Amino acid sequence: MMETTHSARPHVVVVGGGFAGINSAHALAHSDADGTLVDRHQYQTFQPLLYQVSSDYLPAEEDGAAFRSVFRRQANLTVRIAVSVSIDRSDRKLGPEDGSTLEYDYVILAAGVETSSFDIAAIIPLKQRALDPSNGRLGWLGLTMRRRRSGVA
Ligand SMILES: Cc1cc2nc3c(=O)[nH]c(=O)nc-3n(C[C@H](O)[C@H](O)[C@H](O)COP(=O)(O)OP(=O)(O)OC[C@H]3O[C@@H](n4cnc5c(N)ncnc54)[C@H](O)[C@@H]3O)c2cc1C
Repeated sequence: MMETTHSARPHVVVVGGGFAGINSAHALAHSDADGTLVDRHQYQTFQPLLYQVSSDYLPAEEDGAAFRSVFRRQANLTVRIAVSVSIDRSDRKLGPEDGSTLEYDYVILAAGVETSSFDIAAIIPLKQRALDPSNGRLGWLGLTMRRRRSGVA
């Protein structure tokens, strides 16, 4: 499946909707370009509040915001929920994992970083539990919610 922008305006693809990606996408608002924000989730995770969520000071719903809400007034931006797995820089194509192709004129890579465990073995499972999305919406958040639901303190 091939996707084209059908526009003479430059197409800017932003990979990642964290602080960097959201600010990059917002910066396009008054430009003569069209943008597509690609993120694996439909919401931004506001990482500095993870402590509060994990300790139940804050409901999960209040940590982060849905992209559709963040960009509801930005007509030149499309949000695409997809995991980006490849970039063909010579042909300027991004490859989401669903096999489709997203063409771009410019690409901004804002996919975050890998957290270091500094080779401290005891930290590794804690880190995975904290931030691995497959372990709930947010790992340790999922753990907290499951404990809450099951009545385990
Ligand atoms: C618990 C905690 C507390 C923190 N507290 C503070 C603080 O008080 N002050 C401070 O300045 N910083 C703090 N930080 C650090 C700060 O949150 C990060 O520096 C910041 O979130 C990085 O932003 P980013 O946009 O680079 O990446 P991220 O916020 O990690 O965003 C990356 C985005 O890219 C998406 N993504 C990744 N790979 C792909 C892919 N292949 N395809 C599609 N989408 C993808 C992810 O879903 C994510 O939405 C804290 C971090 C943590 C974990």
